[in-house]
Amino acid sequence: MRFGDVVLVAACSRRGFRVRVSRPAARACEEWVRLEAELDASLLGRQGVLICGPNGGGRAAAFEAAGVPARVLGRDEQVAALSALTPPEDEALLDELGGAIDVRAVVDGLAWALADQLVTAEVFAVRERGGHVELQTSEGLWEAGRAIVCPGAGLHELTAELGLDIPLTLDLHARAAFAVREPGAALACLQDRSGAHGEIVYGAPMPDGRHYAVGLGGEHEPPVDEAIARLTAYVERALPGLDPEPASVRLCRTSILPWGADAFATWRAGNVDALAGANLFKFGPLLGELLADRSDELLPDAQLGRARTAAGQPSSPSA
Ligand SMILES: Cc1cc2nc3c(=O)[nH]c(=O)nc-3n(C[C@H](O)[C@H](O)[C@H](O)COP(=O)(O)OP(=O)(O)OC[C@H]3O[C@@H](n4cnc5c(N)ncnc54)[C@H](O)[C@@H]3O)c2cc1C
Repeated sequence: MRFGDVVLVAACSRRGFRVRVSRPAARACEEWVRLEAELDASLLGRQGVLICGPNGGGRAAAFEAAGVPARVLGRDEQVAALSALTPPEDEALLDELGGAIDVRAVVDGLAWALADQLVTAEVFAVRERGGHVELQTSEGLWEAGRAIVCPGAGLHELTAELGLDIPLTLDLHARAAFAVREPGAALACLQDRSGAHGEIVYGAPMPDGRHYAVGLGGEHEPPVDEAIARLTAYVERALPGLDPEPASVRLCRTSILPWGADAFATWRAGNVDALAGANLFKFGPLLGELLADRSDELLPDAQLGRARTAAGQPSSPSA
């Protein structure tokens, strides 16, 4: 897996999270809660998510309809939720149970649970042989009844021999972490779609509580140097509670399907399923179940993960 130390900001309650992608997100939320119990680990942060930008009222109604606790906050309350922030607007929505997923805890917990069933190897070829699958790997040649191929940005390379036409576009994303000037203060996650401070960004506290990660949330990825400069400028303007000199930078390949920033699907070649999509981490436990069951919900026609409005209409991608 490629990952940061934290991913995503998600509103999660017993009834679901991310109302704009409500069905898969709500189901994923249930799976996350189940996984926490199974691994006996805390995986989901509940720092809250401050959502700044247009349509606050509509979002509040959608959260309410979904049974997800959310409140409209004034400027002082916004600072109380995210002390490092200069609020971009008079009002913002706080998704009270949202938070960041602790990626390291998830990966460590799963690796521990699987223990010696895991084989770490480089896969050089996956071949469909009419009824069985052949794998050529650094650890040997394998034959399997089924294979689920999830190589992230390595998808095209690994599926080249399967004759699949997967419309996955790759790009490079930069996210920086900044030192918190006063560790210990309240640090909600952030989705700033207002543009009032000059950028659309997402942000989340790092698990150490001493750093805060910020990434650009627009549709197009700028070159890395430009992204870092813009993030630094944003932090200077919008987040005076952070030191604007990046403490660390994480670069990762992004992979996106044409029908949305949260879209995902599998393509099939015989007994091989190849997974492609973006922002998959938040759907991880649900994806695992669907992949294991070879669910038709994952076929491209279902356009799973496509963002929809509260009324069920397709909407623009979410951060
Ligand atoms: C900075 C950053 C922020 C993100 N924020 C969010 C977020 O807020 N919410 C969210 O849901 N998602 C987020 N994501 C995206 C999320 O991390 C990915 O969607 C998710 O990790 C994809 O999982 P994956 O297992 O399909 O692919 P990957 O995580 O890319 O894992 C694929 C793995 O396969 C391995 N591999 C590739 N080819 C081969 C081969 N031939 N042989 C053996 N191994 C191979 C790779 O080394 C890698 O380990 C973020 C990603 C980054 C980097």
